[in-house]
Amino acid sequence: MSERSERTTNEELFKRASEVIPGGVNSPVRAFRSVGGSPYFVARSEGSKVVDVEGNTYIDYVQSYGASILGHAHPVIVEAITRAAAEGTTYGAPTEREVLLAEQIVDRVPGVEMVRLTSSGTEAAMSAVRLARGATGRDKILKFAGCYHGHSDSLLAAGGSGIANQGISGSAGVTRGAVADTVVAPYNVVPEIGDDVAVVCVEPVAGNMGLVLPEPGFLEGLRAACDRAGALLLFDEVITGFRVGVGGATERSGVQPDLWCFGKVIGGGLPVGAFAGRRDVMEHLAPLGDVYQAGTLSGNPVATAAGLAVLGQLDAGAYKRLETIAAALADGLREAISSAGLPVQVPRAGTLVGLHFSATPIHDYDEAKVAADTGLYRAFFTDLLARGVALAPGPYEALFPSLAHTAEDLERTVEAAGHAARHAAQIAG
Ligand SMILES: *Cc1c(COP(=O)(O)O)cnc(C)c1O
Repeated sequence: MSERSERTTNEELFKRASEVIPGGVNSPVRAFRSVGGSPYFVARSEGSKVVDVEGNTYIDYVQSYGASILGHAHPVIVEAITRAAAEGTTYGAPTEREVLLAEQIVDRVPGVEMVRLTSSGTEAAMSAVRLARGATGRDKILKFAGCYHGHSDSLLAAGGSGIANQGISGSAGVTRGAVADTVVAPYNVVPEIGDDVAVVCVEPVAGNMGLVLPEPGFLEGLRAACDRAGALLLFDEVITGFRVGVGGATERSGVQPDLWCFGKVIGGGLPVGAFAGRRDVMEHLAPLGDVYQAGTLSGNPVATAAGLAVLGQLDAGAYKRLETIAAALADGLREAISSAGLPVQVPRAGTLVGLHFSATPIHDYDEAKVAADTGLYRAFFTDLLARGVALAPGPYEALFPSLAHTAEDLERTVEAAGHAARHAAQIAG
């Protein structure tokens, strides 16, 4: 990789960024508001590691919030993107790769019959909700506190992730009218579902209030309650899809929703989202039906090339390898942090790992908030980063080990975590 002609620092760049970009970042989760300090600016990356503009190397568990499941700059993905770009980057006409990617999703996720590609998870969730309302003729939607479904207006009520980090319950600029038909319920409790509810949106494994696993019976209960009420069930698998196994959380749980959202992994690091569903529901979409949804760059030829390339690497063996990596990370962190005398929960859903500073398991957003408010994450994060290990800069995010994380990376991570935990314990004590 080429040397930069002029050296800059993270501090300098953040100052310049803050002049021209609100908060210096293009997505609030990247700001260091909840952990203190300012972000490192990534100059390049390879595999498990990113290198910042000052030349510091970090073992990276952000991995674009899970989008980079193979690790950074995987040669197969780089090659696919390069080759696709040389053929043209966008046409406004359909391409074969859109068909191939949709077929891949249909093949992998049990129950999916049709797919519409978008350019982000936000668009996917927003469109799926519109489709559900159009298909059922009902207005209300139900979501769970601490679940994040992107930043469209009607879903910005009691979201997790960046919204949780900012301590904002929802957002200014979202009118009362926009969320008037959004009902919010606590995660892991099957709610009453009225016969005016179009769709129940859920992260089948919650990844935006830290990692929170569904209690046995929760997803099954939602399925039964939706059936009784005539409501559709939507699994937001933007994180879990193509991450926790070949068929995502749908296959893992054995529960069959009516609609799905995907994103992150299926873009291979480029902007791709998708929503999917049963044929009879999906056929309400224009041009077949009367629910409008569109996108100039949807199914983009370069993005679909990256998506196909990543899925090409993700066979059952790959998930088994990634699960071994995730298990080593989870077990190592749990041991290192509890040895320092800190209360800790390290839940794991296959290849996804969570971290809560709590003596007892976390079931919902209220409990996640109590753990986040201990301030332990901030101290742990900061010390760990100084030791060359990057977690997401907020306590409400999952950890995303990639297939590129080596045994040596894991060993170094666990050792650094032991030091960081003792440091956090001293501060707390
Ligand atoms: C990230 C995320 C989204 C939003 O996807 P974007 O591509 O950031 O718009 C939606 N749902 C879940 C569960 C997510 O984690």
